[in-house]
Amino acid sequence: MLIVIKSEEKQENVNKIKRKMKELGCEICEFKGQTYYLIGLVGDTSNIDPDLLNANENVEKIIHVQEPYKKVNRLFHPEDTIIDICGRKIGQGHFTVMAGPCSVESEEQIVSIAKEVKSAGASILRGGAFKPRTSPYSFQGMELDGLELLKLAKKETGLPIVTELMSPKYLDKFIDDVDIIQIGARNMQNFDLLKEVGMTKKAILLKRGMSATIQELLMAAEYIMSEGNENIILCERGIRTFEKYTRNTLDLSAIPVIKKHSHLPVIVDPSHAGGLWWLVEPLAKAALAVGADGLMVEVHNDPANAKCDGQQSLKPEKFKTLMNKLNKMLEIEDKKIG
Ligand code: PEP
Ligand code: MN
Repeated sequence: MLIVIKSEEKQENVNKIKRKMKELGCEICEFKGQTYYLIGLVGDTSNIDPDLLNANENVEKIIHVQEPYKKVNRLFHPEDTIIDICGRKIGQGHFTVMAGPCSVESEEQIVSIAKEVKSAGASILRGGAFKPRTSPYSFQGMELDGLELLKLAKKETGLPIVTELMSPKYLDKFIDDVDIIQIGARNMQNFDLLKEVGMTKKAILLKRGMSATIQELLMAAEYIMSEGNENIILCERGIRTFEKYTRNTLDLSAIPVIKKHSHLPVIVDPSHAGGLWWLVEPLAKAALAVGADGLMVEVHNDPANAKCDGQQSLKPEKFKTLMNKLNKMLEIEDKKIG
């Protein structure tokens, strides 16, 4: 439920309403716009009598929010959320590119790729230290050593880092060392993990589960937000369909749908979506055209010998060409690099 109050209303009257709603057992989310003050109610609203609220002369109107997601709902927060990562902006007119290898493999590899993606215009360095692999016999990532190498690459280039957290066991370490904590597709509905990262103030990159609906993705974000962390970036990375040619099917329509219903920024990962390096450019351009707030792109200096996902990784020079093309498109879209 959303209580709409004219913004010129006296603060003491607003406070009275807020107090009453809290007494009735609701949690409150506020949004102050130019013309309206919004009081969003979360939790059990069954004790609230809408007729009584409507009778209050300070209340402009009441909106029943039908969707199960509340705090991530655009009704609760009509303006786009902008996430600031060490001065780089994500959301509302900023197009932010995160790039780097699927997994960190060595100091030389991560530092050289970091320098290349930075010079091509990427704002954030990606790289997996803990890898969620389908087979237990596949390379599982360099783990804590990989995290140290990411920090080194950050020191060398100044690029903030995003990397995947799979277990709450390393959460404190990630809070200290990482700029954005990635929750991967396979953990999108790991509710305990979502609650844990929700209790932090770190930016979270939440990837859509491979069989998750848009609503399930937004509900996963609601889990994080319900614990108090509002710094969430959503990521469409393709979903499983009957099509076998591509690794996943990039759900491009999810971008405008999410932007209509949520204020959170949403980026696209064309690498895991298509699963083939030559699909990355067309899918990235399509993502920009449908309104994505950025990209996550896998880049590797030696894809043929990559320990993970070489077939979908761009070589640095191809990444540079892609960035040049995207920059021209950004001019038309009136967006700037975040
Ligand atoms: C990744 O970005 O490294 C990754 C494993 O992606 P996803 O969780 O989308 O499969
Ligand atoms: Mn990968």
